[in-house]
Amino acid sequence: MRKRILVTGGAGFLGSHLCDRLIEQGNDVICVDNLFTGSKDNIRHLMDNPYFEFIRHDITEPLYVETDEIYNLACPASPIHYQYNPIKTAKTSVLGALNCLGLAKRCKAKILQSSTSEVYGDPEIHPQLESYRGCVNPIGIRSCYDEGKRMAETLFFDYYRQHGVSIKVVRIFNTYGSRMSVNDGRVISNFIVQALKNEDITVYGNGMQTRSFCYAEDLIDGMIRMMESRDGFTGPVNLGNPEEYTMIQLAETIVKMTNSYSKIVYMPLPQDDPVQRKPDISLAEKELAWKPNVDLESGLKSTIMYFERILCNY
Ligand code: NAD
Ligand code: UDP
Ligand code: UDP
Repeated sequence: MRKRILVTGGAGFLGSHLCDRLIEQGNDVICVDNLFTGSKDNIRHLMDNPYFEFIRHDITEPLYVETDEIYNLACPASPIHYQYNPIKTAKTSVLGALNCLGLAKRCKAKILQSSTSEVYGDPEIHPQLESYRGCVNPIGIRSCYDEGKRMAETLFFDYYRQHGVSIKVVRIFNTYGSRMSVNDGRVISNFIVQALKNEDITVYGNGMQTRSFCYAEDLIDGMIRMMESRDGFTGPVNLGNPEEYTMIQLAETIVKMTNSYSKIVYMPLPQDDPVQRKPDISLAEKELAWKPNVDLESGLKSTIMYFERILCNY
């Protein structure tokens, strides 16, 4: 039977890929977004589909629709965007989660939260396991996002325990791919755009910090598997690609793949920038039979092609 599925943040980078996949699967999709970092361009191709509906709405305000499943993705994810108005980011995370949970409770809908590896902060254990409670600065410039996402997880588990709402929590590690905006500010889009324009590649700090990068297609597959996982499996579950790279390695790979003349320049490291990050995905492998299939070079290849197209029309 056709399910009615709500995707908050559905006009964003990940949300729009998720809408595509859910429509392909024959569902009825309601996309809610305030277009802060998202764009109608990401969902333009879906607008004429009778099973797709876009609602411009801010998730910090209550929302009354009828739905069977909710994917809650609404929240700016790039540091420059979530730090632009940090109070709003905290409200989006916390009040947004609260409204979605109230909606899930009323509709008896299953609800998935897109949490983040940022709940681990600047981690003291490596790789990060779901049982690790994190090392998060509660008063720094990243806190609006990190603590907002932690509070959202708390609300999810309280709605589960107190009201029996069926919850699913995924902790997403750095993910990239097409539809990231040129001005997104995250490392992969920055480096690719800089390399394609032969501008300096801005490495923050000494570039020895690490991240593990997952391709969007793999991530979406993991999210849907989580929504469809066995009753009673709430997570949190890590979703990410365990291949780990330093930012220097990433910069060099992108310069090489784009045949760019760009030079690496070093900029100050932002406050509380995590030193290392890599998911332990054994729980996802066991519960969801999921692991990423796209390696960094293949994912970068299609992402570079995407940005080449975008920059032509920019
Ligand atoms: P994104 O910025 O492209 O998407 C976020 C979307 O939410 C945008 O379309 C934006 O307009 C919308 N939004 C923001 N505030 C809103 C509000 N108050 N009301 C309604 N809509 C609002 O980022 P993304 O990478 O697609 O991230 C999607 C989700 O996944 C976020 O919740 C993010 O925290 C989470 N996540 C992403 C990553 C990643 O690497 N991409 C990693 C961890 C977690
Ligand atoms: N809410 C919503 N849509 C709904 C149901 C609830 O946006 O369909 C909001 C509601 O406005 C409230 C929040 O979700 O702010 C939590 O709702 P809940 O019913 O759990 O709590 P209460 O309304 O009792 O505070
Ligand atoms: N980074 C960088 N240059 C940039 C953008 C980011 O060196 O132009 C670094 C940043 O300091 C961090 C890593 O790349 O160590 C990943 O940053 P991003 O903002 O993509 O994600 P997050 O820090 O949230 O993992």
